[in-house]
Formats: sequence, C-alpha cells, structure tokens
Amino acid sequence: MVSHAFDALVIGAGIAGATAAAHLSTTRRVALLEAEESAGYHATGRSAAIWIRNYGSPDARILTAASRAFFESPPPGFADAPLMRPRPVVHLAPPDQVDQLRAMIAEGDDMHEIALAEVQAMVPALRPGYAAMAAIESDCFDIDVAAMHQGFLRQARAAGGTLALRARAGRIWREAGAWHAETASGAIFSAPVIVNAAGAWGDEVARIAGLDPIGLQPKRRTACIVDPGDYDCTEWPLLGDAGHGWYVRAEARRKLMVSPADETDTAPYDAQPDEYDVAVAIDRMQRALDIPVARIEHRWAGLRTFTPDRGLAIGEGAEPGFFWMVGQGGYGMQTAPAAGALLAALVDGRNPGALAAAVPLCDPRRFARRQAA
Ligand SMILES: Cc1cc2nc3c(=O)[nH]c(=O)nc-3n(C[C@H](O)[C@H](O)[C@H](O)COP(=O)(O)OP(=O)(O)OC[C@H]3O[C@@H](n4cnc5c(N)ncnc54)[C@H](O)[C@@H]3O)c2cc1C
Repeated sequence: MVSHAFDALVIGAGIAGATAAAHLSTTRRVALLEAEESAGYHATGRSAAIWIRNYGSPDARILTAASRAFFESPPPGFADAPLMRPRPVVHLAPPDQVDQLRAMIAEGDDMHEIALAEVQAMVPALRPGYAAMAAIESDCFDIDVAAMHQGFLRQARAAGGTLALRARAGRIWREAGAWHAETASGAIFSAPVIVNAAGAWGDEVARIAGLDPIGLQPKRRTACIVDPGDYDCTEWPLLGDAGHGWYVRAEARRKLMVSPADETDTAPYDAQPDEYDVAVAIDRMQRALDIPVARIEHRWAGLRTFTPDRGLAIGEGAEPGFFWMVGQGGYGMQTAPAAGALLAALVDGRNPGALAAAVPLCDPRRFARRQAA
C-alpha cells in the first residue's frame, strides 16, 4: 500500500476543485484526487459558460461580482486566450411574465428595459408578438471554461501540486490529526486539511467520511445545438424568457445552443439528455424565434447541484480540517475565481477581505443549525 503525505487534499477536479487547488497551492502542497479519467468530465465540461451579474443567490452574486476582474485580466501566463467575450443578456417577457420582468429590473444591477424593436434589430429571428416587454443586461460575457479550468490546474501543478486521475476516494477517515483518503488503487493520500469539491457527489463524500450530509440536490439541465438556418447568430445576445423556461446562446456563426432551463431532481450520475427535454427546448425556443430545426446536431445534459437554500457551501464543517466547496448550482463558472480565493482564506484562517460578506452566507454549518432547530 502506497502512502502519500500532503498539506491539503482536494476531492474532485472540476472547476471547484481546480480553483481550490490553485489557490491553496500558493502556501501548501496539494493533491487533487479525481475519480474520472479526465478532469472536468462532469458538470464543468457541460456548462453554458456564461457570466451574468444578476443571477443566483446573494452569496453567488457577491462571488460573481468579485470574480469579474480575474476574467478581465487573469495573471500573466494563466491562459493563451482571453477568458471572456462580451455578450449581453436579453430577457423577454410574454404578457404573463411582464410583472416578473419588472421585478427583475427593480432588484437587478445594471439591467434596464429595452424597446422590442431594438431586440428585433439584434435578433431578426424574433417572432413579432412573442414578447410584451424586454430588458437587457449589457455587462455580461461568455467564459472560456476550458481555458479557465486548465489555467487553475496548471497553476496548481506549477506550484508543486499533484493531480491524480482515476483516483476515486472510496474511503475517507480522520486519524492522528490528519485526514486520509484511500483510492481504488489502494493508494492512501493524507493531509491535515481535506476539501470536498465533489460536485453532485458532495454529500456522498461526506457520508464516506462518516459526516452528516448537508442536503445537496443535483438537478439535471439539458442543452442541444441546432443550426440557425440563414441567420448569422454570432453577435446575438444570450436570449431567454423572464420565467426561466428556455434560453439560447450563440456557439458560433451557424450554431445555437438551446436549453429548456430544466431542473430535474436526480441522484448523482453521469447525466444524459432526455429526448423529451430536448423536444421541450426546441418547442419553447420556436415559440419565440422563427428558426426551423431540421436536425439536432448535438445534445447533452449535466448536473447543477444546489444546497437547500441554493446558496454555496464554502468553509469548514463540523469536523476540524474538513472543508466544503459545493453547491455551485448554475453559477460555478462565474463564481470560480473568487470562490477559490475565499476557500483558501478560510483554510488559512485569513481575513477574506472584500469577500467577508459572503462568509456567513456560504457557511456549510448553517444547514446543521437548521436541522437542529
Ligand atoms: C447545462 C449547464 C449549464 C450551466 N451553465 C452555467 C453557466 O452559464 N455559468 C456558470 O457559472 N455555471 C453554469 N453551470 C454550472 C457549472 O457547470 C457548475 O456549477 C460547475 O461545473 C460545478 O463544478 P464542480 O467542480 O463543483 O462539479 P463537477 O465539475 O461535477 O466536478 C466534481 C468532480 O468530483 C469528482 N468526484 C466525485 N466524487 C469523487 C470521489 N469520491 N473521489 C474523487 N473524485 C470525485 C467527479 O468525478 C467530478 O469530476 C451550468 C451547468 C450545466 C449542467
């Protein structure tokens, strides 16, 4: 049996584990354990890759805003290409969603009503009569997810970190002041600190470690790629309804990603698209956009995993040295740079500075307190 000693173990090499490992590795020797053959195989490789300021729980919004500067100017050598590409978001309200859109404008930052004629000029495929009102958020962007994920993994490796693939942590225990994780090959990784960044499997990892779950719920979301016909959609905004029933995002000149914005509760698994959800996506999109769909070019599904209050869980749990980095829901990409910095500050016992307001909101112990009450 081979034994490896580190200063911190991170379970899961999706974007959460990658940013955690990169930030921790500035002061610690880190081992990043990933069950799959490649890092990013699950939710991280399946996202829609968008940064939207007015999205998600209050803590997600703090971390989203705090991550913006990183996307704009990452450290030198972090990535070969820009991490962001501007793309406004336009919310459309059919008559029965007008009140909802007004509420979104009232509570959102930098979001305002836009004339339907302007939307029509941006997106000529918009069916006249679909929307009664529209709003735009100009300061949004596409994220180069692969570049960000690889950048964090590269940072961790450059600082002496180890990425172990095909290394599912199947047994986790605490002994003599250290956490130990045994992988399928029988190797044992040990460190005083362990970070649970296992995404949809976060509660399962806690159970393996003999700890209480926090009530994570993976929810399947579906997406597919269609050809927008004669339209060049490259510069289209991200477009969706205010009721979160569908959205589309340009992938390239002749590719449009369509999603029914579904949230189907599931157990953690290698999510696969359901044909019904794909059909719903196309139907809802076609009510708004005049785009004939001859063929679905590609379809996929991924798990967006939420805590019971849909906020993130970042911080130490009930057991010393066991840190949670889960519950990223639909905002794991846009929050990743600041989330990693927050996690590292909490592990180090440092003041997280501008992120301090997020600390109580992200505290994983809030779920245990709630269960006890
Ligand atoms: C369709 C879709 C669209 C999305 N769009 C956006 C978007 O536009 N913007 C945005 O910010 N976010 C978006 N998201 C959300 C984002 O993708 C997730 O929040 C993010 O990927 C979560 O990252 P993660 O690292 O927590 O999870 P994952 O990427 O799932 O990583 C967890 C890893 O842990 C590993 N693991 C599990 N158990 C073990 C174990 N015992 N031992 C070792 N390894 C283990 C798994 O194999 C997995 O690789 C979207 C998600 C989906 C599905």
